[in-house]
This record gives sequence, structure tokens and C-alpha cells, in this order.
Amino acid sequence: MFLPISIIDDFLKSYKENNPKEDTKNLPKILSETAKSKKDGAVCNQCGQPIWAIGTAIVGWDGCFTCISGEADNSEDYEIEGVCF
Ligand SMILES: [Zn+2]
Repeated sequence: MFLPISIIDDFLKSYKENNPKEDTKNLPKILSETAKSKKDGAVCNQCGQPIWAIGTAIVGWDGCFTCISGEADNSEDYEIEGVCF
């Protein structure tokens, strides 16, 4: 399972720290949209698993954790609180 993280407080703060050059001003809006689509049942357009809301927000296509990151284990990665499945 993913580690739950809240959108504004935790994720954006750590994302900005790790990606200081990245423009993050639209990220809160995009993240709340991808979290909502995941809640509504959005699936990865490669394999049909539930999308990874954070990854989808960053890469810009509907993908699950495995297809976006290339890794099978998501236990050390974050997902928006409330859609950690
Ligand atoms: Zn996938």
C-alpha cells in the first residue's frame, strides 16, 4: 500500500524541495483533479489498474504506479490521502 499524504501540506512541500526548478503553481489543482478521477474509478491507460493520482498529475497521462514508475513495490511511495488503493 501507498503511504498516504495530504495534497497541500505534505506532498507539495516535499515535491518543491525535491524539484526546486519545477513550476508547481498548477499542481494543487491538477492533483485534486487526478485524486477525484481516481475516486471516480479512473484506470491506467496501459494496464487497467487504478491510476496513481500523484504520478498521473506529474506525468500528464493516466497511469498506475507500476506503469509510471516501472516499479512493482509502492510501499515507499506516496499517494493522496483518501485514494490510497
Ligand atoms: Zn498500469
